[in-house]
Amino acid sequence: MRATVMFGAGDVRIESVPDAGIVEPTDAVIAVTRACICGSDLWPYNLMEPVERGRPMGHEAIGIVEAVGAEVRTLKRGDLVVMPFAYSDGTCVFCRDGIHTSCVNGGFFGLPEPGGAQAEALRIPQADGTLVPVPVGPDDVLMASLLTLSDVMGTGHHAAVTARVGPGRAVAVIGDGAVGLCGVIAARRLGAEQVFIMGRRPDRIALAKDFGATDVVSERGDEAVERVRELTGGFGVHSVLECVGTDQAMATAIGIARPGGAVGRVGVPHYETTDAWVTGFYNNVTVSGGPAPVRGYINELLPDVLEGRIEPGRVFDRIVGLDEVPDGYRAMNERESIKVMVRLG
Ligand SMILES: [Zn+2]
Repeated sequence: MRATVMFGAGDVRIESVPDAGIVEPTDAVIAVTRACICGSDLWPYNLMEPVERGRPMGHEAIGIVEAVGAEVRTLKRGDLVVMPFAYSDGTCVFCRDGIHTSCVNGGFFGLPEPGGAQAEALRIPQADGTLVPVPVGPDDVLMASLLTLSDVMGTGHHAAVTARVGPGRAVAVIGDGAVGLCGVIAARRLGAEQVFIMGRRPDRIALAKDFGATDVVSERGDEAVERVRELTGGFGVHSVLECVGTDQAMATAIGIARPGGAVGRVGVPHYETTDAWVTGFYNNVTVSGGPAPVRGYINELLPDVLEGRIEPGRVFDRIVGLDEVPDGYRAMNERESIKVMVRLG
């Protein structure tokens, strides 16, 4: 089968690899019908050291179940399923606590095992716990929004939940990528009254406004902190969704949180240390967040997608075939595209 493999920074290739197959009796294999490129894929795209045996890419997908292992009970061949970016058994102590990304039998897609989702097929460990069947056809108009339940919508929601967004709150979203934009949807969905989008690219700001952002802050660094304070009576916001993962983003996040506020961080951290921790200490700011347990959130978000109350699929502004995936990475890296969908089959 063909799959996307990264061999180093800027070096993404479509390669012939061994077919995905059942290894454990709890596995399933899906034929991928939709995948996408993630903002987090751009970190290795910019930083990865060259390697001889590349890394399979992709951790977001919708697919059709092709085969199931002997112990799989809830899925059958032909089911259309959403795949969260992490696999999990759904039964261990952490899954029961809703932290599926810490499942004792779990792990992440986009690694040599079990493989990546920017591919024709993929092995799904812990299939019963991981995959969520959806009651639509494979070419349904809702496909784009359903695909965001793999990662970006669930991750934006996690940022909002861990930042303690609630009715009447003032919220700031740092990051105008797909996760930040989904964070705007999530904040409004949870009742936020004021939602600041921190960004400056017109197409993204327009979409953020469509999703319910009330204010735009285009300044950066200390000026951004000042501007948000100015717009919130000098105090800052109750909740900050940190969807970038850099030192500067964290410093801004803590700087604009009001005393007693909270930061929900979902940007994969690429910082070492930040002076903002001192400010955070004196302001009693809660810093939470981490890899989103999107499997747990799908049950909550799926009805809103199926009934059209939220349209996170609008973050996709380009569709490519598998062969065009390398150019999709380039387009996202150059901010020519917000998020690229890969259409297979
Ligand atoms: Zn578990």
